[in-house]
Amino acid sequence: MQPIVFVLGKPGCGKGTTCSYLSHHLPVQHFSAGDLLRQEVQNPRSLNAQIILDDMKAGRIAKPEITVQLLREAMEAHPAAKAYIIDGFPRELEQLEFFKQQLDVERCFMLHLNCSDEECFTRIHGRHSNRVDDNDQTIKNRLQNFADETLKVINLFKHQGRLMEVNANADKLEVCQNAFRVIQSLVGIRK
Ligand code: AMP
Repeated sequence: MQPIVFVLGKPGCGKGTTCSYLSHHLPVQHFSAGDLLRQEVQNPRSLNAQIILDDMKAGRIAKPEITVQLLREAMEAHPAAKAYIIDGFPRELEQLEFFKQQLDVERCFMLHLNCSDEECFTRIHGRHSNRVDDNDQTIKNRLQNFADETLKVINLFKHQGRLMEVNANADKLEVCQNAFRVIQSLVGIRK
C-alpha cells in the first residue's frame, strides 16, 4: 500500500489549509476525517448521521468504527494515488489500532502542525464558519481531547522516529511551504 502521512494538530492549527496546499502541489490524495464525517452528517441515507452530529456538537471524538470505515472507503476509491494525506486522524490510540487492523498499512508517518492554544482560538474566532463545533465551550472540549488523547498518538510516532513537526504559529504560506518541504523529502515524490 502507498505511504500514508497523518496530519494532526489542535483545532484551528491550519490542517485544512495546509493539506489543501499539499494536495495542489504534490501528487497525493488528501482526506480530512472531519470533512468525511461532516459529509456523512449531510447524507440522508446514513444511519450514523445523528450519532456523528451529537459527537461533533459536544466536541467529542466520533466512534472509531465510523471514522475508519469512511476513510477506508475514500482510500479504496483512489487506488492510483502515490501517497495519502489524512488530516484529523488518528485522534486517539484506539483509532490507530483499528485502522491498522482494517488496512494493510506498510509505511506511515505523522506531520504535527504545532500551534499554541491562544493562536488556535484567535483563528477559529476569525474564520466565521457555520460549523456546529466552533463555539467557545466546544473549542475548549476539542483542545482538551487533543491534550488528553491526540498527544499520545503524536508521542508514539515521535518515539518510533516517524514524526515531523512544523511550527504552525507562523504565517499561513510559510507553514504550507515548510510542510511541503517536509512531506516531499519524506515520501520522495514530485508533481
Ligand atoms: P476537524 O474538522 O478535524 O476540526 O474535526 C471536527 C470534529 O469532527 C471533531 O471535533 C470530532 O467530533 C470529529 N472528528 C474529526 N476527525 C475525527 C476522527 N479522526 N475521529 C473521530 N472524530 C473525528
